[in-house]
Amino acid sequence: MRLQTFDALVVGGGIAGLEAALNLAEQNFSVAVVEADASIGGKMIRLSKVFPTLDCASCITTPKMAAAAHHENITLFTYCDLVSLDRSGTGLRALVRQKPRFVDAQKCIGCRQCEYSCPMYASDPEQGDFAGRKAIYIPFSNAIPQVALIDTQNCMLCGKCEKVCPTGAVDYLQQPEEFTIESKTAVLATGFEVTPVENKPLYGSGKIPNVITALQMERLLAPHGPYNRVLRPSDGKLPDSIAYIQCAGSRDVTTSIPYCSRVCCMYAIKQAMLLSGSLPLADITIYYIDIRAFGKGYEQFYQNASAMGIQFVKTKPVIVGSGSGGSVVLRYEAQEDGGRIVTAEHDLVVLSLGLVPGRSPAEISTGSDGFIAIPGPRTAPAVTAVEGVFAAGAACGPKDIVDTIAEAGAAAMEASKYLISCER
Ligand SMILES: Cc1cc2nc3c(=O)[nH]c(=O)nc-3n(C[C@H](O)[C@H](O)[C@H](O)COP(=O)(O)OP(=O)(O)OC[C@H]3O[C@@H](n4cnc5c(N)ncnc54)[C@H](O)[C@@H]3O)c2cc1C
Ligand code: SF4
Ligand code: SF4
Repeated sequence: MRLQTFDALVVGGGIAGLEAALNLAEQNFSVAVVEADASIGGKMIRLSKVFPTLDCASCITTPKMAAAAHHENITLFTYCDLVSLDRSGTGLRALVRQKPRFVDAQKCIGCRQCEYSCPMYASDPEQGDFAGRKAIYIPFSNAIPQVALIDTQNCMLCGKCEKVCPTGAVDYLQQPEEFTIESKTAVLATGFEVTPVENKPLYGSGKIPNVITALQMERLLAPHGPYNRVLRPSDGKLPDSIAYIQCAGSRDVTTSIPYCSRVCCMYAIKQAMLLSGSLPLADITIYYIDIRAFGKGYEQFYQNASAMGIQFVKTKPVIVGSGSGGSVVLRYEAQEDGGRIVTAEHDLVVLSLGLVPGRSPAEISTGSDGFIAIPGPRTAPAVTAVEGVFAAGAACGPKDIVDTIAEAGAAAMEASKYLISCER
């Protein structure tokens, strides 16, 4: 089996993994970044703008992605699953599985001729499933690497992509390939997923039209989004009334997510502000238990949203079903108005879903919440229970980008200290 050796292994190519990898590479350590997706960038490259500055998310993430891809000390392994991570002698041994793209990454020049000629369309999760893509595709316009892959669920093996490919890169017979990475240290930056919405009948179990997730709204608001403006997905109507349901999944023992997901209040406020810019006549309501504006400048951000006319209603509503003309009907207890039961209709409802752990290696211990455990004192962030293994970002718990980047810097510093101690 192929064996490659590096000073450091970084698992996850989101903003935490990229920051940690760049910090280590700048100190002249060789770094392998293993990313499960076909592109690096994590959730951040899929966001519209970021709170509290409203800077464009891809304008911040793309340069970091490019810097990592072009750094002489960094090797990217995309579309690769980490199978296991074990201590071996004085270092670590990671077993990695390269998933087949059915396109030879060494030959593909990203020209998209295959995409243009492919006759098969599939729903595109990169665009919140609001738009289609071809069965052979490059994930998104600023994906790194710019290498195509085939979605075998939707390919009918017509042979058109193979015929038009100018470099002979299409390889329908490609197989998964396992290889080993040996390193002295590792940084785990496996991030988060959002609460599975189908687990919650109270919010329609993902079956009520015009109830979308906040990640889908990020795509509707993004400059390269599916419609180039915010439209209601079921019928293309410009929504006149949009509601957010906060803590949809979080702080809720029935979803096994009793904790606060920290970022949802702020991302809902951010999206509401962006929506009031693109749809100035729309009514925007945020239904909340309490607003947790925890970071620097966040309380002011919340106050600004309130001053812009965004309505904040203290309650936790239930989705009753679809109303007339595609609206969504909610019912709630008006807690600041004598507790009466109110029925409200909105054109579009956005669920502020909670953050649950990503797929961290089974060998690393997690807390009762499933996130990677950092067992030491709070003065030792990023240090896991396994010698030489550090962790950063949302893999250790729900976190905003500012805290993620700070923690990635701490993980890189701990890893670098460890590498220097190994050399002595
Ligand atoms: C709707 C929404 C809006 C948000 N808006 C903002 C905002 O405006 N401002 C802000 O500060 N924060 C915001 N956040 C939070 C922000 O997304 C996170 O802080 C940030 O993405 C965390 O980065 P990360 O690198 O830790 O995790 P991720 O972005 O999740 O990256 C983890 C990476 O690891 C990969 N990976 C996972 N498991 C494995 C494995 N086993 N092997 C290999 N690779 C693996 C994943 O594919 C992914 O690429 C928002 C979150 C949501 C849900
Ligand atoms: S697979 Fe071939 S046609 Fe498709 S992007 Fe790569 S080089 Fe171009
Ligand atoms: S072989 Fe599959 S991916 Fe290639 S053009 Fe035909 S349907 Fe599309």
